[in-house]
Amino acid sequence: MDAAMLKYVLVGGGVAGGYAAREFVKLGVDPGELAIFSKEAVAPYERPALSKAYLFPESPARLPGFHTCVGSGGERQAPEWYADNGIDLHLNSEIAKADTKSKTITTAAGKTFEYGSLLIATGSTFINLADFKTPGADAGGIHYLREVNDADNLVREMKDIKGGEAVVVGGGYIGVELAACLALNSIRVTMVFPDPHFMPRLFTPEIASFYEGYYKGKGINIIKGTSVTAFEKDDQGNVTKVILGDGRSLSTNLVVVGIGAKPRLGPFKGQLEEEKGGFKVNLFYANLQVFSCLNPYISFGCF
Ligand SMILES: Cc1cc2nc3c(=O)[nH]c(=O)nc-3n(C[C@H](O)[C@H](O)[C@H](O)COP(=O)(O)OP(=O)(O)OC[C@H]3O[C@@H](n4cnc5c(N)ncnc54)[C@H](O)[C@@H]3O)c2cc1C
Repeated sequence: MDAAMLKYVLVGGGVAGGYAAREFVKLGVDPGELAIFSKEAVAPYERPALSKAYLFPESPARLPGFHTCVGSGGERQAPEWYADNGIDLHLNSEIAKADTKSKTITTAAGKTFEYGSLLIATGSTFINLADFKTPGADAGGIHYLREVNDADNLVREMKDIKGGEAVVVGGGYIGVELAACLALNSIRVTMVFPDPHFMPRLFTPEIASFYEGYYKGKGINIIKGTSVTAFEKDDQGNVTKVILGDGRSLSTNLVVVGIGAKPRLGPFKGQLEEEKGGFKVNLFYANLQVFSCLNPYISFGCF
């Protein structure tokens, strides 16, 4: 095979990708030794900003302001940082095929590379209501949030429907943060989730009750103990109503769904040992490491 040889390849230009690049530089990687392939069009950034300051109506956060590693007080690694440190950052470059036996990866554009060591940092993607075959889940105006282009779509639509209504599906981190941001953007918000209260895996009923009271004080309607069973749409295919399991229906201009995430195994699926839906990892997995990263800062709500 006539493929370029790369010493280290990192697939995934998210939070773990950006922080891993910093570690490579600290350890003294030589120019041209490390190549990063990312599906996204922008250099690694602090993803948590997308459900917070990125959605603020006034002075929102925008790139290049929050490239990694500013979330931990580190240097802001804009695209020039990668060039200055001799790292080949391939953006808009999804890896579509991989063979961990022959140690090759192929981009969606059809370019194949051989590698010496591979780091997989492909992160997660959101769970989509279409995965559960929820009727109407393909309607326009139903949003999920993972990458900066998702956030851009949401920002555009929040402006279009200012003064209108939104339904937030989910009472976890994303649901709670998005409800706050929509309200800050002068949108009337109803939250719907099946749990007995906000963030049941993290909050006690007392803590949840405090936050729910606070949200209600900001005009947010909270419907608990039921789920979305279907969406209705207009002639243009845009969402108009959310149908709930308890028989209620909610008119809406926009829906944001935050019901969890699932590991993105991509072209490596079936080639590595899996556990709980993701790749099984340890510190030194043969010639290959799988990275994931919990962002160093946890924040909550946006009010
Ligand atoms: C909106 C939002 C808010 C969050 N807020 C917080 C918070 O406040 N605190 C907190 O601790 N955590 C938060 N998180 C979680 C945190 O962002 C993740 O834990 C972190 O991003 C995981 O980093 P990662 O590098 O493993 O994955 P990601 O950051 O998801 O990066 C994976 C990257 O790989 C790319 N990729 C995937 N497949 C391929 C492929 N085949 N080829 C090339 N590239 C590929 C993706 O496009 C992406 O760029 C939030 C997440 C989201 C979505």
